[in-house]
Amino acid sequence: MLDDLRVEQMLDKFIACHVSRILLFSHGEIMKSTVPSHMNLVELIDSFGSDDRCRAALEHLKWPEGPKCALCDSTATKIANRNQYDCDSCHYQFSVTAHSIFHDSHLSLWKWFLATYLITESKKGMSANQLKRTLKVSYQTAWYLCHRIRKAMEEVNASQLKGIVEIDETYIGGKKRHVGSGNLDNKTMVLGAVERGGAIRLRVEHRKRANRKVLHAFIKDVTHPQTERLMTDEAPGYLGIADEDTTHETVNHHAEEWVRGDVHTNTVEGVWSLFKRSLVGSFHQVSAKHLQAYLDEFEWRFNNRDNPYLFRDTLVRLLNSPKMEYKELIEKSA
Ligand SMILES: [Zn+2]
Repeated sequence: MLDDLRVEQMLDKFIACHVSRILLFSHGEIMKSTVPSHMNLVELIDSFGSDDRCRAALEHLKWPEGPKCALCDSTATKIANRNQYDCDSCHYQFSVTAHSIFHDSHLSLWKWFLATYLITESKKGMSANQLKRTLKVSYQTAWYLCHRIRKAMEEVNASQLKGIVEIDETYIGGKKRHVGSGNLDNKTMVLGAVERGGAIRLRVEHRKRANRKVLHAFIKDVTHPQTERLMTDEAPGYLGIADEDTTHETVNHHAEEWVRGDVHTNTVEGVWSLFKRSLVGSFHQVSAKHLQAYLDEFEWRFNNRDNPYLFRDTLVRLLNSPKMEYKELIEKSA
């Protein structure tokens, strides 16, 4: 009798221990695979094809150690049968999407996931028209979605470039009829900097000409003071940018000189051609007012070209980006 009890107790203990190990193991697996790397579309649908699954993934991403109050950071408890949590301390009630870009959206979370996936996975980006057809939403919804996802891709505190940095400027926009190719009235200037083997920084400059003041301010902003070498073409606006720890080397494009040893601006010119092709392929027309947003999206995708978790990291950005009203976008484009 006593023996039987002991055996039963041992068995209970064994099962309890085993179950907790299984739970621990599977929880670890969930954490790792919440949003896996390099998913194809079928895997995306398998993993996130419902709002509940998307919500669960967002909860894992936002609160890896369990839900926290959006106001006071205390632990919180799920409210039964609702997608809301109740703060254990101040009793504020909130959802995982509270205060984020997803908040108050009439769009399903699954469509948000799909749109984010399509925008991050397509090499050349995706237009609102393509998204409208793929998601079966109105053009206005697709446009709003694109802009909000792009907003989340904007680097707010981008680090400064170092090492060898190539700088160049280009002009984006429609050509006017019956005017020479030197006419810049209709074009917007974009400044670019590329760290060799590293990141890019792209910026719209609304002043029409690349003068010394504009170029020097851009370079000082995006490159570290101890950048070793700056490489540009021979535009006079770049002159005088060198200092004691930074050399300035140029290639003379007017004299048909493109490369001299390792001195060239081919990397940044490659970035321009990639960006311009993405405009032609997906966007057709980009108004000057929205150009910076397209550049930010391109920059985010380019700088994360070796990041297998780009989709997951973009979702985290969306979770941490404040919501943006439709009105705000409209005003920007007015
Ligand atoms: Zn609280």
